[in-house]
Amino acid sequence: MSRILIVEDEPRVAAFLEKGLQANGFCTQTVRDGIDATSLALEGDFDLVILDLGLPGQDGLTVLEALRGQGLQIPIIILTARDDINDKVAGFERGADDYVTKPFRFEELLVRVRARLRRCGTLNAPPEMVLRLNDILLDLRTRRARVGDRSIELSAREFTLAETLMRHPGRVMSREQLLDRVWGYDYDPRSNIVDVYIGYLRKKFGSEAIETVRGMGYRMRS
Ligand code: CA
Repeated sequence: MSRILIVEDEPRVAAFLEKGLQANGFCTQTVRDGIDATSLALEGDFDLVILDLGLPGQDGLTVLEALRGQGLQIPIIILTARDDINDKVAGFERGADDYVTKPFRFEELLVRVRARLRRCGTLNAPPEMVLRLNDILLDLRTRRARVGDRSIELSAREFTLAETLMRHPGRVMSREQLLDRVWGYDYDPRSNIVDVYIGYLRKKFGSEAIETVRGMGYRMRS
């Protein structure tokens, strides 16, 4: 499911976008402040950003510049009441992929969101069947794992945890992110269950396979 970050300070517009995008199968998160938007977009695992320009804290163009400056490459669609050509030029120059002016028709925005995601392969891409990293292989159809030519038994949770880490090779995943994705939102964030399961995976994959990044989380060694 594609994840979309909505950066919008008008509650009515934000609610309209959330409702429409969710009804079309997208997962959304909304932030109303420009400064929070920058950190969230960089930390979160989003596929696309819808960005308003007039924002409290930090203007949308500044947000955009910061995100591209930090190397964020996902599509960013500006959605704003500013319809001046100079604003559009400024938006594209700072790295926006598309520019939609308010008032807007939801259908049009949706078409543009889908087009952007399709272009970068996040939408309708054939699902991967196998994940490989170093000598570890996860077969997503059979839910079986191998290390080199050894077959490894993984529980359902262990498999999902391994899959989550292997989908982001080299990237640090925090305990909260792993709890969220593997155990669901309801799990107590103080629980040490992530650490326990990382221990299980290290026993099976080799202790070197997963790196602890102190104070931040875990990552697969790539
Ligand atoms: Ca605004």
